[in-house]
Amino acid sequence: MRSSGPFRDEQVLPTAHGPRSLRTTGQIIPGADPRSRYVLLINDDLTDERAASAQIHHMAHHDTLTGLPNRVLFREQLDAVLAAPAPRRPVTAVLCLDMDNFKVINDALGHPVGDALLRALASRLRQELREHDLLARLGGDEFAVVLPGLASVDGAGVSAQRLIDAVRAPFLIDGHTVSVGLSIGIALAPGDHDSGEQLLRCADMALYEAKRNGRNRFEYFRLEMDETARRRRSTEMDLREAVTGQQLELYYQPIIDTLYSDVTGYEALIRWQHPQRGLVMPQAFIPVAEETGLIHEVGALALHQACREAASWGTEQSVAVNLSPVQFKSDRLKAVVASALAESGLAPGRLELEVTESVLLDNSDRNIETLKALKALGVRIALDDFGTGYSSLSYLRSFPFDKIKIDKSFVQDVEQSRQSMAIIRAITGMSRSLEIQITAEGVETREQYERLREEGCSHFQGYLFGKPVPAGQRLKRL
Ligand code: C2E
Ligand code: MG
Ligand code: MG
Repeated sequence: MRSSGPFRDEQVLPTAHGPRSLRTTGQIIPGADPRSRYVLLINDDLTDERAASAQIHHMAHHDTLTGLPNRVLFREQLDAVLAAPAPRRPVTAVLCLDMDNFKVINDALGHPVGDALLRALASRLRQELREHDLLARLGGDEFAVVLPGLASVDGAGVSAQRLIDAVRAPFLIDGHTVSVGLSIGIALAPGDHDSGEQLLRCADMALYEAKRNGRNRFEYFRLEMDETARRRRSTEMDLREAVTGQQLELYYQPIIDTLYSDVTGYEALIRWQHPQRGLVMPQAFIPVAEETGLIHEVGALALHQACREAASWGTEQSVAVNLSPVQFKSDRLKAVVASALAESGLAPGRLELEVTESVLLDNSDRNIETLKALKALGVRIALDDFGTGYSSLSYLRSFPFDKIKIDKSFVQDVEQSRQSMAIIRAITGMSRSLEIQITAEGVETREQYERLREEGCSHFQGYLFGKPVPAGQRLKRL
């Protein structure tokens, strides 16, 4: 009554039903008569509210599927480990883990099996770790581990290999025997970085490298990985602008037909006029475009531009456009080609599409259907870079190609290597009987040209006749 402010107290009371949390708040209320005052006391039983908020806190910090800490808690725990290093065992390792074929299994056997697999994986991993090691699920099939207090750097690799080996034995789930692999990226503190966030980023880049190097393996973070990733990111950002900002341009390289000894067509080769970096060649950005999916826009742009350009020539010369295997993943490829033809008014017979063997490798039945649909538009299909991939002559049976382009590495070897000659002879022999045209790519010398003509190549392309140049400067006739 004497203190005029509000009163507040909390206590735990033992009751017959166990301890209950009680909150008491008190307030003084003046009466109508200035001499009388009242006290209002309110008691709340907070027990259920407290339990619910603890539950919410747990849920916000754990993954419901596996019960492991989630990314939020993992980051807190990692920061705590880094703040308190043990002086005698100074190395902390952060591992990023990723299952190698989880998506395939999840799609093929269904999500309940996928979920059970994640739980089984989590428990196998946990068994391999020491008690004070941290294991978390960051999302999807991505897990992370912190190994605090390692005596040396090599200890991280030993542990990573143990985790990989532990996952090697098949899982038995719901009557299915499931085999998966594990890829791991490792970052170390001190050394790679001191902040938790950066360590996780470094481990993630090392994971990417492990996957690129063949999966089911671990890789330590190295500084070059950061530079590569940074460059890839900046290329990606710039490329988005290039697509809309008209920085992409096609160069044209003449294709010579010996029968008519004339320029019968051109290959359209893309170039990027980068505002700072200058002229960028396709090998430096097509892979990034493929990884990021930008290739669909880049490819459509190349098709439209090449058809429009060729339609303006007033000749019957053909134009060849390269297609990336990634473009075959889109259901819209045929529609894009059709619209490039329709919009430009180019006769379909003048358009040639160049694909590589890899199109026949992955998903080949579907891709062959797509190739047939494209061919049905009236365009011709060429098999590019023949000799660099698997170079199986059986590909020539799986789809009726109109043309094979022998890769420049063979062409340039033709005088030195009897093997190259023998392979070229096999290709030309086979294509003669199948009535497929043969282009020799990368012809640089008169001697190469003579040899290849004797062997029966029908078309030639290379610096000997002309380099790729902007449309206005192209070689018009021999
Ligand atoms: P490709 O389709 O095999 O193109 C032939 C490459 O060989 C071109 O390189 C061309 O400039 C080069 N070349 C031609 N003649 C000679 C020669 O006599 N000697 C030597 N050393 N090289 C010669 P470029 O323009 O750098 O293109 C490289 C690759 O990039 C192309 O190989 C193609 O796979 C890809 N590419 C180019 N434009 C596009 C495009 O619009 N879309 C897609 N998806 N890929 C493209
Ligand atoms: Mg090509
Ligand atoms: Mg080629």
